[in-house]
Amino acid sequence: MRAMLPARLEAFLGRAGRLFIGGRFVDAEEGGRFAVLDPSTGDAIAEVARGTARDVARAVEAARRALDGAWGRTSPDARGRLLFRLAELMEDHAAELAALEALNVGKPILEAQMGDIPLAAQHFRYFAGWTTKLGGEVLPVSLPGEYLVYTRREPVGVVGAIVPWNFPLLIASWKLAPALAAGNAVVLKPSELTPLSALYLAELVEEAGFPPGAVNVVPGFGEEAGAALVEHPDVQKISFTGSVEVGREILRKAAGTFKRVTLELGGKSPNIIFEDADLTRAVRGALLGIFFNQGEVCAAGSRLFVPKAHLERILDGLTREAARIRQGSPLEPGTQMGPLVSREHMERVLGYIERGKAEGATLLLGGEPNREAGRGFYVKPTIFLAGDEHAISREEIFGPVLSVLPFERLEEVVERANRSPYGLAAGVWTQDVKKAIRVAHALKAGTVWINGYNLFDASSPWGGFKASGIGREMGRYALEHYTEVKSIWLNLA
Ligand code: NAD
Repeated sequence: MRAMLPARLEAFLGRAGRLFIGGRFVDAEEGGRFAVLDPSTGDAIAEVARGTARDVARAVEAARRALDGAWGRTSPDARGRLLFRLAELMEDHAAELAALEALNVGKPILEAQMGDIPLAAQHFRYFAGWTTKLGGEVLPVSLPGEYLVYTRREPVGVVGAIVPWNFPLLIASWKLAPALAAGNAVVLKPSELTPLSALYLAELVEEAGFPPGAVNVVPGFGEEAGAALVEHPDVQKISFTGSVEVGREILRKAAGTFKRVTLELGGKSPNIIFEDADLTRAVRGALLGIFFNQGEVCAAGSRLFVPKAHLERILDGLTREAARIRQGSPLEPGTQMGPLVSREHMERVLGYIERGKAEGATLLLGGEPNREAGRGFYVKPTIFLAGDEHAISREEIFGPVLSVLPFERLEEVVERANRSPYGLAAGVWTQDVKKAIRVAHALKAGTVWINGYNLFDASSPWGGFKASGIGREMGRYALEHYTEVKSIWLNLA
């Protein structure tokens, strides 16, 4: 039995899942459909049209027409109003959107209500404000003669946005909001595991009154719809969030058409507790760092560096509190951890746990499926005392598995924290402000949180060093990736 869903959501699930192209909901040209599952049971929630290269081509054409037509002529102020209107509609439909994310991703509904949905709406509002501020500048050139030289920021064109399944609506918003604010048209390809909230958003885009083709949503599989978007010659930019392997493949393929590419990829983020930290807060922060959203977070603080002097105390706090995490149906308001997104992903995570044991890491908590939580893809919060050399401490697991790594000296921990191909985020826990800043500057990561973890805001740039990606989302930094700068020279002689 499924928990009660908001009536508007039941009605949405009853409508056939179709592609959103050129302002209309349409079937896939080849007629394919695929099932979308509820990870708390493994049962199907809905069937969705399976977009292929032919549908991507239709969507790109619709986006191009929008740029050449009504959308391209929409003034900055009018673009801002549309984005504000969309944010309002998302808030009006917050209950349905939160329930949908809980149902399809398996995340606790409270987290969707407090995090995913309000942050996604805030994102549209933040970038709505930027539409009227994207000016150029007049340049003091030294070339002999007399010239007026100025710059303009123009939209890149058709943007292909490819997103993962862990924060489907929020990460789609990270791409749609700046892309639309800068005047681009977008073809969004949600993950095949979680396409529903993007289709719900498409209905809100239509209701908000965006010109047809400004936003298109084409659910489908990575190798079909995703690859077609990457290869399409009329797509000027790909904004991708997902795995390192797919990111590398996209970058390689993009060379063929010189597409602009931004990549938000994986991580193996260090979270460092120093001896002088407020240990109660640090332990809570460490648990939030790894178990929030079932550990299915690119920034998950999966390598917890703990001072040897306080090892026992910290391990005791971590295991005691993690054992109390309420795991169960994502739609129950009291649930703190839901199932993993799919059977395949659960098996991958359990495989890492077995490897951890086989390589000699000490299992302190969890380490197995949680059958009492439900018949879906539940894995218990898992904590290992591990070494840097173990696979569980080196590779991204993308699940609720923490490696606790003891250390002695500051220089040592900074060096070990940086010894990773990734560089997405990091945490530092200390009450010594000078130490906090010195370490924050030394860490090779796109974001460093001091005495906090998993903090996000539309104004603060997000992205990775090293294999964690290229480019930044959020803040004014995102806009640079969605505009081309043009210099214009007027010879006054
Ligand atoms: P994934 O790379 O398997 O898939 C991401 C998206 O790419 C999906 O929409 C998928 O259909 C599509 N895709 C797959 N193959 C493709 C191809 N050949 N061409 C074009 N598109 C293709 O990743 P996932 O399993 O959905 O998500 C998990 C990964 O995402 C993790 O590595 C995680 O760290 C990363 N992630 C990063 C961030 C960030 O902000 N840095 C945020 C969330 C997730």
